[in-house]
Amino acid sequence: MPYSPPIRISFGIVNAYLLSGTEGDVLIDTGLPGLAARLLRAMKHAGTSPDRLALIILTHVHFDHIGGLSVLQCQTAAPILVHRLEAPLLESGSISLPAGRTPLARLMMGAGAPFARRMRFAAIVPDIIADDDLSLQPFGIDGRILHTPGHTRSSISVLLNTGDAVIGDLCQNGWGFGMGLGRIVPPLADVPEALAASWDRLLQSGAKRLYPGHGMPFAIETLRAIRGKLAPTP
Ligand SMILES: [Zn+2]
Repeated sequence: MPYSPPIRISFGIVNAYLLSGTEGDVLIDTGLPGLAARLLRAMKHAGTSPDRLALIILTHVHFDHIGGLSVLQCQTAAPILVHRLEAPLLESGSISLPAGRTPLARLMMGAGAPFARRMRFAAIVPDIIADDDLSLQPFGIDGRILHTPGHTRSSISVLLNTGDAVIGDLCQNGWGFGMGLGRIVPPLADVPEALAASWDRLLQSGAKRLYPGHGMPFAIETLRAIRGKLAPTP
């Protein structure tokens, strides 16, 4: 197949991505709640539709990544894939907020917690449970799922043979609403001690371009430069 990069679907503060494969298209994340119409429009604009999806991958089960899932699920037979440790959250219909790593991030997550506790999503049972290093070949995609914990314990990334990697919130490309830690390092992480090891894995994986959940795609060299300033993984 000719090279086609992941198509970014922007929901303003968060992205979903579309991959095209030989068995259909693959959607990674589904954007913000209440914006399913935007998701469907963007899919149409990209020349696809829910019935042409071969797979839906959730990098993690945060509200800004699963917002369109229940609407989409009614329109597609595509299986839904999440990491094993993330599945119970999806099945519960509830969400959690990640831990803040800076005083401002902790303040914002603390302020949002009561709202998050009241938010309810359709309880969805995933079809495919991923652990680590799961091939996407059966879904027509030359690539694999990697377990890349940090932002959540069970976050996953999609590494394609082309060197493109869709990484959820393992990194961001933006200033994180002023919550700190620079342009690439996520200010929100449940398992901050796992971030560096996940970055190292990406850096050694052959990934060339990273497609984050927040902000525009960027070159792996940007991450390599930032990683070089941090202590090595213990
Ligand atoms: Zn998140």
